Amino acid sequence: MAAINPRFGEELKKYGAFDFNACYNCGNCTAVCSLSTEEDSFPREMVRFSVLGLEDDIKSSLKPWLCYYCGECTANCPRTAYPGELMMSLRRWLTSVYDWTGLSGLLYKSLPLSIMAFVLTALGVIIFSAVEKFDLPAIMHYGHYFEMFAILTVFCVIFIPNLIRMWWFIILKPKIKVPFKKYLSGLWELIVHMFTQKRALGCDDNQLRWFEHFILVIGYLGLLFTTVALDWFSSNSLFVIAFGYLLSIIVFAVTVIFVSERMRKRKELSKFSQPSDWLFVIWLFLMGFSAFFVRLFIDAGMLENNIWIYLLHLTILVQWALIIVPFGKWTHFLYRSFAMYFAKIKA
Ligand code: SF4
Ligand code: SF4
Repeated sequence: MAAINPRFGEELKKYGAFDFNACYNCGNCTAVCSLSTEEDSFPREMVRFSVLGLEDDIKSSLKPWLCYYCGECTANCPRTAYPGELMMSLRRWLTSVYDWTGLSGLLYKSLPLSIMAFVLTALGVIIFSAVEKFDLPAIMHYGHYFEMFAILTVFCVIFIPNLIRMWWFIILKPKIKVPFKKYLSGLWELIVHMFTQKRALGCDDNQLRWFEHFILVIGYLGLLFTTVALDWFSSNSLFVIAFGYLLSIIVFAVTVIFVSERMRKRKELSKFSQPSDWLFVIWLFLMGFSAFFVRLFIDAGMLENNIWIYLLHLTILVQWALIIVPFGKWTHFLYRSFAMYFAKIKA
């Protein structure tokens, strides 16, 4: 018999859900959802499970990840139970369930704690720079190695164990048998979803939003590659320099659109933003923006007298790499791609 957690609804509210208890189970939301199918029917079922506190059933479900948050269900709910926002908060909650450190949950639930983490990392950068006597070449050298170290550490220490936990909840615990061959043949699905998020094209509203996301993912991954592997800030190659400028412009231009949409709140999906949503788009914008100006100051021969711009960029980078990527909204990108993979191999 499925275990019931009577406090689950209260817990979910800390992740941004509200008013889902108003649901009277009419099924309108599922009927209008263009991504819901007979085999994978949502969001009504997830609303029901949440109301009943069926925590374990939600833990083993991929359905929260199959929703791409177009907001159609919320717009058509006769009880204003906000099913789209419930699906979003389930994704946040699942992120905290997969995370073995428990930090995702703490940061999602507490804005003061998030602010404290940002302040502490900024202080860390300032103290480190003071120890290095604000020697720009030394700080830039360590900054470059920090990026590589952070990527490797976050991947090995946080992401791999968390993905194993996700696998445990979705496949192993419910005793689903998946032949090894399927794990291999499904890998292509994982790669395709990771880079294209093609399922989002199935949302009625979504062609432009999909394109913006696609450009952002390409711009972000390209900028990461250019700064880490091609050492953009030290490169003398005209091609690498121009490529880095282009990618940083793409990142901050698309994030400006996202921030302005969240501020204007015209679309259903922009109406409700949790602090984690704001932090994600603002820090992504700041990353592209500050990287662009660091390289511009290098090319103008002005960086040595304006070390603050590099310190600002480094602070944003450290906060991004140590807080938002491992414990914030960035993880949705990873878990959603793996959810598509698990859905494929389970079928
Ligand atoms: S969330 Fe709204 S639309 Fe969906 S089943 Fe409940 S009342 Fe109906
Ligand atoms: S937000 Fe859109 S994709 Fe998600 S459940 Fe609602 S209608 Fe479906």
